[in-house]
Amino acid sequence: WMDKVLVVGGAGYIGSHTCLNLAGRGFEPVVYDNLSNGHREFVKWGPLETGDIRDGDRLDAVISRHEPVAIVHFAALIEVGQSVTEPLQFYENNVAGTLTLLAAAERAGIDKFVFSSTCATYGIPRSTPMAETHPQAPINPYGRSKYLVEEVLRDLSDLKSLRTVILRYFNASGADPEGRIGEWHTPETHAIPLAIDAALGRREGFAIFGSDYDTRDGTCVRDYIHVMDLADAHGRAVEYLLSGGESVALNLGTGTGTTVAEMLAAIEAVSGRPFPVKHAGRRAGDSPALVADNQKAWEVLGWRPERDLDAIIESAWNWHAGRANGAV
Ligand code: UDP
Repeated sequence: WMDKVLVVGGAGYIGSHTCLNLAGRGFEPVVYDNLSNGHREFVKWGPLETGDIRDGDRLDAVISRHEPVAIVHFAALIEVGQSVTEPLQFYENNVAGTLTLLAAAERAGIDKFVFSSTCATYGIPRSTPMAETHPQAPINPYGRSKYLVEEVLRDLSDLKSLRTVILRYFNASGADPEGRIGEWHTPETHAIPLAIDAALGRREGFAIFGSDYDTRDGTCVRDYIHVMDLADAHGRAVEYLLSGGESVALNLGTGTGTTVAEMLAAIEAVSGRPFPVKHAGRRAGDSPALVADNQKAWEVLGWRPERDLDAIIESAWNWHAGRANGAV
């Protein structure tokens, strides 16, 4: 028998790549997803159980059917802008939903839990690169919803038997190099897929949000991390918990900062297709620079990113170019 892992939100972008990684490690990923943002077509490495994380009865039924050894939890609303206009939706889905999931896990005696968190829990960086000890002061309801769950997980680790790996992602990007799955958001708001669409001639061009930041070229610095590297960290986190690892929070980034202008130049260089770029105003809630100190993930999980920005762009390009009008 293969051990099963319940991958909540496994039909989404990072969740589906994690299923691919878990399958490669000999686990059977069981996806639990309400398909609000996930895609049925991305569930390729194990069964799909449709359901919402706010539905405790449904969770009980799925958990008792599959008896997973651990839970990896991705299901969340993620658009920062939407979190500012609809904060209650974020607290309901991301916080209340996760509490329902945690209660179901506790009822079933599942004590190993990997949680998708974000560098957005740090808020405005006091310095970069940021280590896990950087103060957490999120600046929008999205970041706050993730931060609140982190606090709950810390309590459950301290006071109950839960063991949890909290993974704080920097800028997830890229796709499965074999093109089976990739980034597919509707509407798309992320910089790399938008720029690739501009290079493919599917958009008029790319608007840079802010060119007057205190950075080397005035545009925001981000730490773009390949989704296959992120997926690998989740696989390692599951194995770490199964072998008795203690609760921990880890940054997942490369440690290398790239400005928006540098990212655009890399896309032009990799693709050989120049596209129009214009300068627009700053986007509300954007941090000037987010770069990970990733030393702790190396110490705890033996994890180090293996793919660079060119690999991100190549894999993302292949995925987006191969997709006609939203179809896989
Ligand atoms: N960005 C941009 N134009 C766009 C979309 C994004 O200049 O059309 C910038 C954004 O301001 C940020 C960076 O690209 O500095 C990465 O943004 P993204 O939304 O991909 O990720 P975030 O850092 O917000 O999680």
